[in-house]
Amino acid sequence: MGRSSREIRNILVLMVVAMTAGSFAAAGNAAPAMKALVGGTLVDGTGAAPVKDAVVVIREGRIACAGRRAACPVPKGAEVLDVRGSWVTPGLIDAHVHFGQTGWADGRPDSLDLRDRYPYEQVQAGLREHPERFFRSYLCSGVTAVFDVGGYPWSWSLRARTAGDTDAPHVAAAGPLLSTRDHWLNVPAERQFIYLTDEKIAREGVRYLAANGTDAVKVWFIMVKERPFEEMAAAVRAAGDEARTLGLRLIVHATGLKEAKEALRAGAKILVHSVDDLPVDDEFISMAKANGTIYCPTLTVVGGYLRMFDAAATHKPPVVDDPNGCVDPVTLAHVAETASLTLDTAVIQQKLERTRARFAAGNPVMADNLKRVLAAGIPIAMGTDAGNPLTLHGPSVYAEMEAMQADGMTPMQVLVASTRTGALALGSAGKDLGTVEAGKVADVLVVGADPTANIAAMRKVRIVIRGGAVHGVAELAPVR
Ligand SMILES: [Zn+2]
Repeated sequence: MGRSSREIRNILVLMVVAMTAGSFAAAGNAAPAMKALVGGTLVDGTGAAPVKDAVVVIREGRIACAGRRAACPVPKGAEVLDVRGSWVTPGLIDAHVHFGQTGWADGRPDSLDLRDRYPYEQVQAGLREHPERFFRSYLCSGVTAVFDVGGYPWSWSLRARTAGDTDAPHVAAAGPLLSTRDHWLNVPAERQFIYLTDEKIAREGVRYLAANGTDAVKVWFIMVKERPFEEMAAAVRAAGDEARTLGLRLIVHATGLKEAKEALRAGAKILVHSVDDLPVDDEFISMAKANGTIYCPTLTVVGGYLRMFDAAATHKPPVVDDPNGCVDPVTLAHVAETASLTLDTAVIQQKLERTRARFAAGNPVMADNLKRVLAAGIPIAMGTDAGNPLTLHGPSVYAEMEAMQADGMTPMQVLVASTRTGALALGSAGKDLGTVEAGKVADVLVVGADPTANIAAMRKVRIVIRGGAVHGVAELAPVR
């Protein structure tokens, strides 16, 4: 009741498309036929003004034409999808994910240790064998490309596996991380953390990553009290120098201003977290600009830890923010299990309070720094850090984009960060992605509300086109 006839017509159109999409899926990965999305408002990801009554022609998995109806006539024989009343955008790109993590504590026993129930080596083997549930939750949420910026060596294999698969997002991968902290979270025969003891190890580590054809070199620059800062900084600079020599981009996790500036000195091309302790200063800004660094604010990940500890402390199941029902049943069951865990109350309370304090102190600084970075014209990419507890693979992008908007970016700026700049963050893996322009891979969304009015509109993604293959979101949601 109360729906306008226009809304009803749109719903009918989308239902028809959802049904047609099912038959495409049944045809597997065969080269999709020529299609035209007709009559929607095109928001192409470049930041250009939206184009009303647009046509997007898709041929052999690529965009053949996108623009005004007069500029992009519908070719004879094209299958027409009537998307009047909807918005057409590029597929979203999450520039910060980890397929080696589950979205719950079983993948991060350093957050809550559940290894007696979920042995870590078994969790890892499961993640390696079955990444497809996450592939699906990404596509279902409108995410058509992701950057795995740190994990086990098997994460590299996801690139080839997903490249031609229209049922999975494109995956770029940085492989094992070079870490200033000797983290224990490895499995006996494989490492996701290579300990950056000194400059020699740093260079050897980078050469190992290069030999595996990595998409980037990721450094985890954690302040370790027991180590002199200069010792860690020298190792990070050596990693940056070796990466530059080998033509690889340096990605750094650095949340404090001091280590973030050291990362920029080392040549970091992407910072995958906000600076959350101090305001970024002029030196930070000028170094980032000189490097062409992309800033990925990753605003919501700490909130996930907070919600998990809160659920464990209060025995109330955490709320799952998954508007299109994209998350798989096993992940949902694990998340719900948080409420019934029997853990040391004092330990949980301490974790909860510590995280709450970090969240309260860090959030305003992150918001302020995002404004400074934005005003300086530094490119910003959207990234969730999905895989961390309660930052679920796929639908976490909505809260992240909304947080970027709440911190002062316009909806259009957030959309560009989540599409074109995300593709830039992927490097050569992203060169044909990120915008709805002729020649690009046809990774396109049809959305039921205006994302330039409010980025929360992306929750209303209805159709996901990946490499020209059309999927209704309902078809991508797991069967429950
Ligand atoms: Zn991360």
